[in-house]
Amino acid sequence: MNVQKEVQTKILSQTQAPLLEICNLTKVFGSGLLQRGQKAALENFSMSIQGSPSKIISIAGESGSGKTTLARLILGFLIPTQGEVRYRGKDLKMMDQKSWKTFRREVQAIFQDPYGVYNPFYPVDRVFEIVIRKFKLAKNRQESRRITEEALVVVGLRPDEILGKYPHQLSGGQRQRIMLSRAFLLKPKLIIADEPVSMIDASMRAIILKIMMDLKDNFGISFIYITHDLSTAFQISDDIIVLYEGLVAESGDAEIVIKSPKHPYVQLLVGSIPIPDPDQPWQGRVELPPEEELEMNTLRGCKFYRRCPYKMEICLKNPPPLYNIGADHLAACYLYK
Ligand code: SF4
Repeated sequence: MNVQKEVQTKILSQTQAPLLEICNLTKVFGSGLLQRGQKAALENFSMSIQGSPSKIISIAGESGSGKTTLARLILGFLIPTQGEVRYRGKDLKMMDQKSWKTFRREVQAIFQDPYGVYNPFYPVDRVFEIVIRKFKLAKNRQESRRITEEALVVVGLRPDEILGKYPHQLSGGQRQRIMLSRAFLLKPKLIIADEPVSMIDASMRAIILKIMMDLKDNFGISFIYITHDLSTAFQISDDIIVLYEGLVAESGDAEIVIKSPKHPYVQLLVGSIPIPDPDQPWQGRVELPPEEELEMNTLRGCKFYRRCPYKMEICLKNPPPLYNIGADHLAACYLYK
């Protein structure tokens, strides 16, 4: 690429809206706005993904951390209590039919249990046929068969071993690869993969993660990879966002965050909290307030307070904001104030 073209591309990519932009997203189940003392499944979550270069961004956390709520909000399955999900600059809530159809085509999802997607009374071919018909991807049966076979080959499956089979005749790994293949058929820009390998055996897990990386590198497809497993996040992600009780605890380059976590919760997750040294009494001890007061204060202050080995008085006063602790590396902890 010559210099002028390189500059033009750079300017264009700077002026174009991000592929996906999430701004201050909050979801409270069961009622309207977030009331004092009420728990949000997800709170003030923001992130963005540029269309190019493609990336794998992991959203990691324990169950109840808000990661699946986030996936469902991004896919438009849930309405946010506050905040926005924008795709190519358009708020999902305000999209007209045409933009919504583009979104439905360009943003695909794969889920933990691929079996639930199949109808056990039909051969697996049907999952392709439905998509091909809905999005008018082929002019006739031959073309439909050809693009289905191509999509299966991309995920390393042999069409003659798959087509015509019923879901129960295939392994969990094959069923999940078919889901990736069906998503690929639509040439998506983004795939939301919600725990896609957690019900699959270890050898097949590695194959599916490799397919995700190949789709990113060879076809420019970005992924939001939702997981509770930091080791797989480390293997495949460019960036990672770790959630704790609906809030971002730490985010940044996946290798940096996982190899050198800064937030005490993320340190706990990766098992790198230093063993206490009896010769070095810990200086940060604070008197725990009575239980009810603690309950109210942890709602007001840092949600990790009860489990945190470094807790300080300030941690009970207000939730810690995200502090910048390096290049694109953020941690929500008063240790970095
Ligand atoms: Fe621990 Fe305080 Fe940091 Fe929360 S803000 S993780 S309680 S040190």
